Amino acid sequence: MIPAKPLAVLPTHEVTNMPPHLGDQDLWQNDAALREGVAREGGGWTEQKLADFGKIAGAAEIFEKADQANRQGPEIRAFDRHGMRINQVEFHPAYHDLMAVAIENEVPNFAWRHAKPGSQVGHAALTYMFNQAEGGVLCPMAMTYSVVPALRQSPGIGDDWIPRLLSTSYDARDIPVEEKSGVTMGMFMTEKQGGSDVRSNSTRAEPLAAATGEGAEYRLTGHKFFCSAPMSDAFLTLAYSDGGLSCFLVPRWTPDGERNSLFLQRLKEKLGNRSNASSEMELQDTWGVMVGEEGRGVRTIIDMVQGTRFYCCFSSSALMRQGLVQALHHTRHRVAFQKRLVQQPLMQNVLADLAIEAEAALALTLRLARAMDERADDEGAAALARIGTALGKYWICKRAPGHVFEALECHGGPGYVEESIMPRLYREAPVNSIWEGSGNVMCLDVLRAMLREEAAVPAVLAELEAARGGNAALDAATTALDQELAQSEDLELRARGLTEMMAITLQGALLVQHAPAAVADAFCASRLGSRWTGAYGALPAGIDFDAIIERAVPG
Ligand SMILES: Cc1cc2nc3c(=O)[nH]c(=O)nc-3n(C[C@H](O)[C@H](O)[C@H](O)COP(=O)(O)OP(=O)(O)OC[C@H]3O[C@@H](n4cnc5c(N)ncnc54)[C@H](O)[C@@H]3O)c2cc1C
Repeated sequence: MIPAKPLAVLPTHEVTNMPPHLGDQDLWQNDAALREGVAREGGGWTEQKLADFGKIAGAAEIFEKADQANRQGPEIRAFDRHGMRINQVEFHPAYHDLMAVAIENEVPNFAWRHAKPGSQVGHAALTYMFNQAEGGVLCPMAMTYSVVPALRQSPGIGDDWIPRLLSTSYDARDIPVEEKSGVTMGMFMTEKQGGSDVRSNSTRAEPLAAATGEGAEYRLTGHKFFCSAPMSDAFLTLAYSDGGLSCFLVPRWTPDGERNSLFLQRLKEKLGNRSNASSEMELQDTWGVMVGEEGRGVRTIIDMVQGTRFYCCFSSSALMRQGLVQALHHTRHRVAFQKRLVQQPLMQNVLADLAIEAEAALALTLRLARAMDERADDEGAAALARIGTALGKYWICKRAPGHVFEALECHGGPGYVEESIMPRLYREAPVNSIWEGSGNVMCLDVLRAMLREEAAVPAVLAELEAARGGNAALDAATTALDQELAQSEDLELRARGLTEMMAITLQGALLVQHAPAAVADAFCASRLGSRWTGAYGALPAGIDFDAIIERAVPG
């Protein structure tokens, strides 16, 4: 509930030294790194839209709805009152309100609706702001955004579905898509016997007629162990047809206007991400149409996975940013030992360290967004988008849980209590590191990009070269990375270390070129120094803590 003005005097004591409610946030105006990054990476023309949305997404009411939607999570409604199978999910009304706000403001489709240079940057910024309030709704947004490139591979199917995905109308009704004003899509690949290893899928697809291959109709039978947003209007999935593992579009309703035989088995009870429904799904003679080439299902769906992995980068950046905002608000108002917490040297060290991590995550995310914008016409950009997404997905998502925990600890006890947003952010933080390719799998994907795509490593090195001479520690780290990359032994064993080095040096190069010196110096002096353990709050002396903190959120 948005609190009415509270009574500050209770019968036994006067309430003092407690921070005021944060209230409405301006997620655009208060975030200098976001504003600068969007302009720098080519999204300048999206600024007005982002400025407007920063107020919408930052409204206390949106945070309140997110709290409600997570407290009272979705419930399965497998059958109606007459015992008919309906496979529905019932959500708190706040969830639907949040879905409507996201879709009406183009969160799932801005990049496709305004396809021109900078649109991926604007898209990333929109999502980053919305995700600060709520992560669960972002799952269907991520999948609806990401499915478009995969559907383009089969124009016969894409021409039908993509215009529906570009709608700005949220239509939650479970009815055939022809009758709906807007649709969302999901994907299910993971099966019980294998998630990372999708080739272990056992779901079978039999053709319904003589025609086979792309665009042909099939009947799918099998199970899927994780299916998030199961109320989506359609899903991409993988199943074995005679020609090998292939990709299929499976709608909730068949083209004949009948409910497709998708059977929702149960919803998962999850650590976090509670507003989002994640289910187990049985497919029994389920109608589907093949997308992309037969036997090339992984190749087809990987275009979607690239998008959802990219989403994980700005989602984790957003969680870090919001944790930092909350920590700064608390420590600016709370006094301990006669001084505001934000003025205590050791707390300054923690806050500044959180600020540079959040800024580095955002800088890398926005740089990748520009690479996504440019990839169609520029081989180097395509290579950077490819390897950079894997690097970012690994490193940014890996850093987020510890970051949110540290921001929580800045609050002391109240940070551990549900009325603050911090427990929800904390529970949300690990998921981005697990789904869409868990940590090790992302590092192996970095290796795959390095070994299979000639332009991948040069694309990373070109980014580092651009910053050469700007910071001695960064120069030394770039040289050390060159040496590491030159060694071809034990690559798989070393994949985490290599990925981490590439990600951190990339972040350092971006900050050295574009961030204020205080931020870049602190980042390089810590992350690229010999004593860094990864824990927050151990920045060396000589750093301009005040400047970093003031930049993060003006006091
Ligand atoms: C909340 C939530 C929602 C989800 N929603 C969906 C969804 O909508 N659709 C969908 O398809 N999936 C979904 N997933 C599933 C998710 O994508 C998988 O759980 C994930 O890809 C890992 O697969 P797995 O669980 O089978 O783990 P495994 O593949 O068994 O992996 C277990 C661990 O082993 C590591 N590992 C795997 N291979 C190697 C290797 N070669 N070398 C070293 N380490 C390795 C992994 O990194 C991981 O840490 C969801 C998961 C969660 C948690």
